[in-house]
Amino acid sequence: MAKYIFITGGVVSGIGKGISGASIGRILKDRGLNVFMQKFDPYINIDPGTMSPYQHGEVFVTKDGAETDLDLGHYERFIDEELSRKSSITTGKIYAEVLRKERLGAYNGATVQVIPHVTDEIKQNVYAAAKESNADIIITEIGGTIGDIESLPFIEAIRQIHSENPKDTLFIHTTLVPAIPGSNELKTKPTQHSYKELMSLGIKADIIICRSDGFITDEIKNKISLFCDVPTKAIVQSENTDLIYAVPLSLKRQGLDEYILQKLDLPNQPETTGDWEKMVEHFRKADKPLDIFLVGKYTALHDAYLSVTNAICDAGYQAGRKVNIDWINSENLNEDNYEHRLSSADAIIVPGGFGTRGIEGLMLASKYARERKVPYFGICYGMQLALVEIARNLLGLTEANTTECNLYTPYPIIDIIETESKIDELGGTLRLGNYACKLKDDTLIKKLYQKDEIVERHRHRYEVNNKFIPKFEEVGVVFSGINEEQNLVETIELKDHPFFIACQFHPEFISRPNKIHPIFKGFIDAAIHMREMK
Ligand code: GLN
Repeated sequence: MAKYIFITGGVVSGIGKGISGASIGRILKDRGLNVFMQKFDPYINIDPGTMSPYQHGEVFVTKDGAETDLDLGHYERFIDEELSRKSSITTGKIYAEVLRKERLGAYNGATVQVIPHVTDEIKQNVYAAAKESNADIIITEIGGTIGDIESLPFIEAIRQIHSENPKDTLFIHTTLVPAIPGSNELKTKPTQHSYKELMSLGIKADIIICRSDGFITDEIKNKISLFCDVPTKAIVQSENTDLIYAVPLSLKRQGLDEYILQKLDLPNQPETTGDWEKMVEHFRKADKPLDIFLVGKYTALHDAYLSVTNAICDAGYQAGRKVNIDWINSENLNEDNYEHRLSSADAIIVPGGFGTRGIEGLMLASKYARERKVPYFGICYGMQLALVEIARNLLGLTEANTTECNLYTPYPIIDIIETESKIDELGGTLRLGNYACKLKDDTLIKKLYQKDEIVERHRHRYEVNNKFIPKFEEVGVVFSGINEEQNLVETIELKDHPFFIACQFHPEFISRPNKIHPIFKGFIDAAIHMREMK
């Protein structure tokens, strides 16, 4: 029988609820429990797939091809489990399902209402996750802040889950304890209000996690305890840290794992390993600098590249380097300045992207890396545009392009290949999730993976046009990884270049702090080598 932990947010958004949830997942996993995590997002979109990266940050893709909230990336990195479609539920998804059932006549003539039909659908998603994952604990984070109109059906649904499983359900509320400017006095009133708001919806928090710039003293805990009817040992601080991976250790130090086990009547078995702590200690020792240039379209919002930057920094830490990411907006690169702007890079990465804006700058970045033999890592659009650049500058096809940017190019290097791809319907129609890739012998990529076949996650619509492969091979492009089932290019590299790797898939989604992805590891090693050669 699964146990349920629900995490709600109070006072303001952006206080690290996702990291707190992921950290709780980690500390429970370290106690030998199987953990599955979910995020409920109360917005109306079916998923964030059609949202602008500026609205939403990164779209995280699960192995089964769901386009989801970036918090799922934190969950996967912290608990080191592959999550699924069941981990990401939005109001849009719930309503789509309720309306589908209504059309099928599944409600037997009932008037379809928020309670019970919408709430039942939400509950069903929690119970189904428990059944499918077979986990000991399902941790569900409710997006948004208590008091939001949109989240009310979700809150009501979790209230009902508690009524149905009173001994197996735990509510954790995360709040902000702000400091008054000038006096730096910490104030608990917003937490008290938020607690009351939650109570008015029928939910009594079992644990309160406070975020604050100051130290949450026992005196403050006593005050919150008094007003919010939660024992002081159930009030913990989510500390500001230099390293997000240190948050689980801090929660553990405050006894949160112990308290949760006790509340949920779970055996208090000792911690299985101390690996996470050792990892954090090792990461903290990393001090030598490394300058990785990230050239992208959405650099104004760093969250748009969350998994990429985590994978880079984690690989850096692992190798004893504190990576400095130099954010380069590709729109600001041009023929006159790009050599100067990129000159101090130890390595260059061009991650994924969509649309025409800024693509010339992305190509200048791959051109620079190619010509100067600077380590280059292109992900998805970063691979497609690297090929367009080579077509233009080495094959002399000056009008080469991807049909994403010019439908009428005489040289469609990147094109829509799969006929079933429905361009008129944007949501959920990309090539998404896990696909296999066969790696060629005697290639750098195979050396990195040490495997013949790999499986990686995808999120793209356009593909390499195989017609041009022989021409590219003449100038030293190696098509090092192929999806044999559909005959699609998955990875490329350059002969006579120390490290020029690009892939159609998104390796950043499966890199973990305690299990660095082989391409990211190779990329960082190449960057270190580059720096040492300077
Ligand atoms: N825009 C490209 C495509 O749709 C690349 C997508 C990406 O980088 N994720 O194929």
